[in-house]
Parts: sequence; C-alpha cells; structure tokens
Amino acid sequence: MKQGAASNMESGTAIYRHREWRGLRDTAYDFTKWAQLWVILIRWALAHPAQNVKAVLRYRWMFSYLCVPSFFDRLCAGHRGAGLRAARLNLNHMVKDVTDTLTTIFSADGHLHPGSRKAAEKSKRIICFDELLPTLLGKGFPNCETLLFQMYPMFLPSLINQHSGVHYISQTELYGLPADVCPLPSFEAGLAIEDDYPKIGCCMVTSNMPCDGSIMTTMLQDRRTGLPTQPLNVPLRWKREEVQDYAVAEILSAITFLEEQTGETFDWDALKAACEVWNEQQRAKFEKWEFNRTDLPPHTGASVWLYRVFEHQVACGDPDALKNDRKVNAILQKQVAARKCPKSIRHRAVVWSTPANNYPNFNNWLLDCWGIESVCEMFDIHGTGLIDTSSRESMLYGLADMIETSTMRAHTKGGYEVMLFDLWEKVKEYRADMIVMYDQISCKGVGAINGLFEEGARQRGIPMCRVRQDLLDPTSISRRDMRNDVNLFMQTVMNETPLDPSLVEFDDNESW
Ligand code: SF4
Repeated sequence: MKQGAASNMESGTAIYRHREWRGLRDTAYDFTKWAQLWVILIRWALAHPAQNVKAVLRYRWMFSYLCVPSFFDRLCAGHRGAGLRAARLNLNHMVKDVTDTLTTIFSADGHLHPGSRKAAEKSKRIICFDELLPTLLGKGFPNCETLLFQMYPMFLPSLINQHSGVHYISQTELYGLPADVCPLPSFEAGLAIEDDYPKIGCCMVTSNMPCDGSIMTTMLQDRRTGLPTQPLNVPLRWKREEVQDYAVAEILSAITFLEEQTGETFDWDALKAACEVWNEQQRAKFEKWEFNRTDLPPHTGASVWLYRVFEHQVACGDPDALKNDRKVNAILQKQVAARKCPKSIRHRAVVWSTPANNYPNFNNWLLDCWGIESVCEMFDIHGTGLIDTSSRESMLYGLADMIETSTMRAHTKGGYEVMLFDLWEKVKEYRADMIVMYDQISCKGVGAINGLFEEGARQRGIPMCRVRQDLLDPTSISRRDMRNDVNLFMQTVMNETPLDPSLVEFDDNESW
C-alpha cells in the first residue's frame, strides 16, 4: 500500500479519505475551524432557503460553492502551527463575507425574482464594479453597496472547482470568439453569452484592467446587462509621473457618473475613513511580508495570496478584515518569536507570474512533495503604497495608485521592466534559492518576455523551474501536467529526491 500523504486520497478525485492527522492540538484546531465553516454555510443556507435553492438551480456556477469545505481542506493540506491557524482564520473570514454578499446579490436578482419590486428596489442600491477595480472608491457611497460583478460567478468558482470554467469557455468558443484568448476573460464572456450573471445593479463601472482580453469581454457583458456603464480607464504606463493626472481625472469622472446614477452625493469623509482603515490593512500586510523574509516563514500559499486578492479588491477599507489581519499577525508573530517552524523546508522560492486558479493548492504540493516553500508570490505582493488622507487631492492620487497596482495589473503592465526587475529584487529580499515561474500559456504579454526571465536567471545563477498552466482551464494543461514539470526539474536539474514520494505521481483529474 502507498505510504505518505497520497495514501489518504481517493484515486481520480484526490478527495481525502479522512481528515488529515497533524498531531493532537493542530488536528483539534483544524477540526474546530472546519466545523465552524459548516456552521457559517448552514446558517447562510437556512437564512433564505427557497432563494438559495433557486440560485443553485438557476446558476451552473453555484454548484461550485457546494465544494467549499473540500476546497478549504486542500488549501490547508500539510499546514501546522501558526500557518494552519492563519489559513483557517483567513478562509473562514472570507466565507462569511462571501455568503453575506451572495445573499445581497440573490435578494436583488431579477433572474431569481422576476417582476419583484422589492428586488428592483434593492438593485437600485447596488453599484457593480469590474472585478479588478478595488471597491474602495465605492466607500464614498455609504448608502449603496459596491459589488465586484464577476468575482462571485467567475473568479471564486474557478478557484473552488477546477472544472467550473470549462462549460463557459466552450460556449465562448462555440459562439465564434477566438479560442486562444486567456480563459479568464473567456469564462466571463461565456457567462454573458449564457445569461448567467445575476441581474443586479443600478449601473456598472468597467475598466481596461488587466489586459486586452478583458476589454473584449466587457463588450459582451455590456450587451447582456444593459446597465448604464462607465469605463474607468487605468494608465498602462502606470509608474510614470505624467499619467497620474489622467488617472485622477478618470476617478473623478467615475464619481460624477455614480452620483448621477445613484442620486447620492459622494461622501468624502466616508472615503477618508475607509482609506485610513485600508492603510492599516496595508501595514498589517507589510508585517506579513516581513515575517516571510525571516528564516522561519510562518504562512505561505493560497490562503495568503487569495486573502490578499480578496482584501485588495473586496474588503479594502473593511474594519472586520483589519481585525482578522491583526489576529492573524499576532499568531504569526508569536511563532516567529519562538523560532519555531513546523515544516520541512529545503528551498525558498519566489513564485512568479499569475498562479493557476484551477490549482490553488499547488503551493501546498510544492512544499509537501519537494520541500519548496513559496516565501514570496507575485500575486501576494502587489500594491505597496499608503494613501495620504490629508486632503481630497492627495487621497485621489493615493487611490489612483491603489487601483493601478490592482491584482495581476501591477506587474503585467507598466512596461516589461516592472515584472522583470521586481523579480530579481524579490529574490534578493527573500533570500530565495530558486524561482518557480508560471508559464501561463494564454497570457501573451508575459509570454513575450519569457526569454528575458530565462536569461536573467542564468546570469544570476539561480535555478528557475518553469511550470506550464492555463489559468483556469484544466483541459489544456492539467494539475498533473503542472506537477510533472516540477518533478522533472527537481529530478534532472536539481538532482533531488522527493520529501514525500507518494505525492510525485497521483491522479486528481476528476477532483473539484
Ligand atoms: S492572466 Fe494575462 S491574459 Fe489572462 S487576464 Fe491576466 S493579464 Fe490578461
């Protein structure tokens, strides 16, 4: 019989046969938080049972949310001590926020409540934002709720269930749109074609972020939603001084649009209060980066970068998220001070480029199978500025910087040097001894500088393992293919044997 972590997985689905044994204290902690997760989910389901059942039957993507407990278990695989606690706290905090938002969405949704005046009234108070626009700007409209339009039907399901995007991507291709576009905008386009976005909101603020594929899909969404729409354009060369006035003018124009659509007056004091909370969230994040620069990185992986994406886009300026940050940091600080490291680390890696949504627990596997610790990830380190709240003008410039350094956008735009030079800096800062480079085959902008990454790594003598992936389409590159790229590199280039041989080869193609 197979020994090691893989012996606890069902063949094909890689679903755990039983809960992971992590020692008495950690297993008990993990179990408690897992039970807490179920309480949150059951409470949410029972609060509006008819509406939630309707949503599951109406929206194909809603099925993915049924896999959340298993998804969280995968993200916590192998974690012990402070890392386990931080992961569970982050994930349970997110699930509370997401379930509340789903209730807001479904109670205003014209698809679930056709002809309902109550739903229509609720919709009037909802502002829709493109998912890459942080909601911080929306805090200036405290009587309205700002929601990221594609986050709940697309981005989150694509992480929870690797197959969630396949149907929608196929629909986009059947519709006649190019098959070689990145699966993220393709998934978004498929949702519009299938009419699977909730029918909500009084207006929509779109953006040109992160890339051309995303701009294309906005057109299709616009046709489907029919909402009054305003693009908030973000400069491509976002590091340059001379484009900042344009960035601020775009924000001001969006504010005027939102005032017209909502009938509300922009509340600068509310924005200031939210920016100050955001600054504290940023400081908490800087502290986390500092912990991972030590010899004892306490918390790494998708429960870190996913939470960062969530905080930067959704929970920016949210005091509850800040409370969670402080709790997590206290736990991490304690472990670092005690000089404990409950994991086997052989390599400190900088993980660069966009991670694969269809394999968010890839970091757990890197560590458990090969001892590769992801001390720094590109997806986790975007946005390093604080917002100066001393005047409206300074706040606008700070906000412009925050939007410009949004998820994925901060590194993929601004000129090739942003992504390239930052990599070498992070290798130094985090004292990394290897790079794991995602080769997102559909991300053409990044693909264009692959050679520069290779050349730079060779000149610096730092081993760089390339991992092919297709963001959220497992039909072109599977999780197993991604693991094989690492296995081959570790065996041939690094000449190493795995920490856990059972994890080198296993089948999880049918997994969520
Ligand atoms: S991964 Fe690349 S191509 Fe895909 S949405 Fe992001 S920036 Fe665009």
